[in-house]
Amino acid sequence: MSKRGPAGGEPRVIRLLMELRRLGVTDAAVLGAIERVPREKFVLPQFLDQAYENIALPIGEGQTISQPLVVGLMTQALELNDRCKVLEVGTGSGYQTAVLAPLCRRVYSIERHKSLLKTTEARFRDLRLTNVTAIAGDGSRGWPEQAPFDRIMVTAAGTKLPEALIGQLAVGGVMIVPVGSRSSDQEVLRIRRTAEGYHSESLFPVRFVPLVSDSEEKRA
Ligand code: SAH
Repeated sequence: MSKRGPAGGEPRVIRLLMELRRLGVTDAAVLGAIERVPREKFVLPQFLDQAYENIALPIGEGQTISQPLVVGLMTQALELNDRCKVLEVGTGSGYQTAVLAPLCRRVYSIERHKSLLKTTEARFRDLRLTNVTAIAGDGSRGWPEQAPFDRIMVTAAGTKLPEALIGQLAVGGVMIVPVGSRSSDQEVLRIRRTAEGYHSESLFPVRFVPLVSDSEEKRA
């Protein structure tokens, strides 16, 4: 099987898309974005043969590239359009970023592991993702200089809702964020920012690596 060329059209990509559709990813634009992102470029060489399986895979530093189903469901829940300015917390491999990029105006992405970010930025250049800006840092504080954001996507789970991020959401904006005290007890929340505050809605259970904020790390 060819490992080169666009992801779309390959039997293993078509199989993955059918599985995602069956499991609830119904948004055609989101499925189209997943179809066009070559996930094989985001995994470590030893996992190339599993690149289009519906599983999370290690990417180094104890982190993982998200499961395609979770990427699909979370992206769909974000209700994107091409005018959206998006903040992503937890760049990781950049796979979720690459799915977001064609569905919005610009993605600002923050990753706390500099070594991961370096590899990932090279991927963005290679794939010519010109509407992505990524930096190293603690994303739980958001990106105040670029706020407000129309959408925020958090791809690591905190024990509670990251309040600083809600403050950087535009009124009418949407945030998708996994929250939970233990890895076995997390759920994805959709936050809608209103003029008065925000509404929160629980979407589905999930398992993410922890959102590590600098202040927590110092206390630990
Ligand atoms: N969306 C990524 C998921 C990577 S796993 C992908 O599909 O590859 C979550 C990532 O969040 C990890 O890379 C981890 O280092 C990062 N992370 C955890 N806490 C963070 C924080 N406070 N700020 C920025 N990134 C963080």
